[in-house]
Formats: sequence, C-alpha cells, structure tokens
Amino acid sequence: MCFNSGNCRDTYYCEDSRALTNSVDCAFCESCELCYECVDCLNCYNSNFSQDCTNCEDIHFSYDLRRCRHCIGCVGLRDKEYCIFNQQKTEEEYEKALQTLDTSKPEIITLLDQRLEELKRKVPRMFVHQFDTQDCSGDYIYHSKNCYRCFDTRHSEDSGYIFQANLDKGTTDSWDCGPVPTGLELCYDVCLAHYSFNCRHLYWCGYLKDCQYTTNSFNSKNLFGCHYLDKKEDGYYILNQKVEEGFYRETTKKISEDLKSRGIYSIYDLLNKNPDEEPIFCPKTQRARQCVVCGEGFELVDAEVKFYDEMDIMYPVKCPECRNMQRTRLRNDRTMYKRKCDSCKSTLISTYPPDSPYIVYCLDCYWKHIG
Ligand SMILES: [Zn+2]
Ligand SMILES: [Zn+2]
Repeated sequence: MCFNSGNCRDTYYCEDSRALTNSVDCAFCESCELCYECVDCLNCYNSNFSQDCTNCEDIHFSYDLRRCRHCIGCVGLRDKEYCIFNQQKTEEEYEKALQTLDTSKPEIITLLDQRLEELKRKVPRMFVHQFDTQDCSGDYIYHSKNCYRCFDTRHSEDSGYIFQANLDKGTTDSWDCGPVPTGLELCYDVCLAHYSFNCRHLYWCGYLKDCQYTTNSFNSKNLFGCHYLDKKEDGYYILNQKVEEGFYRETTKKISEDLKSRGIYSIYDLLNKNPDEEPIFCPKTQRARQCVVCGEGFELVDAEVKFYDEMDIMYPVKCPECRNMQRTRLRNDRTMYKRKCDSCKSTLISTYPPDSPYIVYCLDCYWKHIG
C-alpha cells in the first residue's frame, strides 16, 4: 500500500517517499530505515513520530532536528544527544525515560504531541522548507535553482509550477509539470512522466522525445495523439498510425492550431472538455488574471511568458493550483478494489474498480500482450 514512491524495500503505507527500508506510515521521506510515522525526514534511522529531521538516529516525537541521536520531544536541535523536550539529560536518565515511553497507549501519544506542540511554538523555524537552493519560490524544494512556485521539487532548474518532482531528478526549462515529473527537459503540461525531452501534454510516459498529447507510451520519438506505444524510435506516428514525415509535420501543425482555436490548453482539457463549451482566451498583454475554474487571481511572470512564447503555447486561463489539480485528477483514486485480470481472470488488487470501462491486465498478461 505505497503510493508515489520509489526504490523502497519492506515498506508499508508510505507515500511520496524514496529509498526507504523497513519503514511504515511515512510520507515525503528519503533514505530512512526503521522509521515509523515520519514526515519529511531525510537519512534517519530507527526514529518515529518525527518531522523535518535530517541525519538523525533514535529520535522520537521530534521536529526539525539535524544530526541528533537519542532525543525525545525535541525541536530545532543540532548535533545533540540524550535530550528530552530540549533538556540535556545523562545517558542513564534518557534510557530510563525511554523505558517508560509506551507509544502503544493513545493517551501517551496525545500527551507527547501536546508537549511537543508547546515547544514547537517557542522555537523559531525557517520560513520555507528549502535546502541547497538558489532563487526559488515555493516550498519543499531541494537542490534546485531558479524555480518559480514549485512544491515538493528536487534537482530542478529554470522551471515553474512544478509539483511533486520528488523521485529521481526534477525538471529543466519546463513549466506546469507534475505530479511526479522526473528528469524532464523543455516540457510543458506533463504528468507522471520521466526522462523526456521537448514534449508537451503527456500522461504516464517515459523516455520520449518530441511528443505531444500522448499517454502510456515509452521509448519513442515523434508521437502525436498516441496511446500505448513502445519503442517507436524511427518514423512518425499520429493516433498510433505510422505516417510520412511531411504528412506528420503538416497534420500535427493543423491539429495543434485547431486545438488552440477550441481553447484546449492541456491534456486534461482534451480528455474532458465538452465540445459545445465556448473556448476561453485571455489577451496576451493581460498579466493579472482570474482563474476560470476557482476565480482566484493569479499573475503571469516574465520567465513563464518567455517560455510560452518560445514554445508557442497559449497563455493559461486557469491558476497553477487548478492546473495541477486537473493533472492530478487524471490519475486513479487511492482506493483499492478486488477485481479480475481481463485476460487470464486471476484476482488482482487494483486501483481500477471492477466496473472500470478500461481493459485491465495483470502484470504477466500485460507484458505478454502489450509488452
Ligand atoms: Zn484556480
Ligand atoms: Zn492476467
């Protein structure tokens, strides 16, 4: 029951995490082992109920600790050991306290939470969660440079509105990508995709170059409106059909212009827009805008305008949050259903419900029939 996670082993109920071992109920953690109920912890070992801690060992109910060991209920400490609620203890005192810490009792957890919260209100914290960043706005950004309004993003550069780039590598020169964009360059409106170059409007793809409006496709070049293709590195494809280069260039240009004239801004619009709906456009000169979905105001910044112009992309009429929400909605809900494989009829536990309109295969059948 893990979601959005990578390189994990013996890990249960963890989300948005990477490289966890023997850990349960953690979110947004990286390289942790034997951790339980941790959030945003990095390189922690044998720790529980802690948040925003880095390089720690044996810490419990703690917040914002770095390089600490053997601490209970501590906040904002650096290079400390044997502390309880930020008070220095001897090793014996600490061990004695740890013996009485019975976290199987809900009342003990409530009490610890309360005391920790009191302490959290006294110790100052940084205004953003950023580490090794330069000129970045947003929160939870690591090892990144020149990023605008990005969240849960790492290893990204010259990008904006990137969300949940929290797996391997983030994005370069890309806008409006996420959730889970990994190793993207010169991309726009791409979600759940990895290692792709000069692509736009992708969903669940990897290793693509020069592709548009494509879903569930891998290791290919020059796809337009394609679905479930793999290893199409030579040639040009429209709607899964191989076509001549000249025809491809001419037709994709025409389709793009048609989509533009109908106000199709994203892969979400393409899949969900009612054809009778009036297209909505916003004049290019108008930087301050109002989201057509939620009504919130948002502003276009210079870097994104430059990107839209260079990539010949329409200026958005929806705010970045709504855009991300719509991409997120392309995914399955986090509900598990018992269903059958539509080929071999073996029982599967899947996020596709039994009455899903799609043909769903088990891993073996998928590889056998689709590859
Ligand atoms: Zn909005
Ligand atoms: Zn099967």
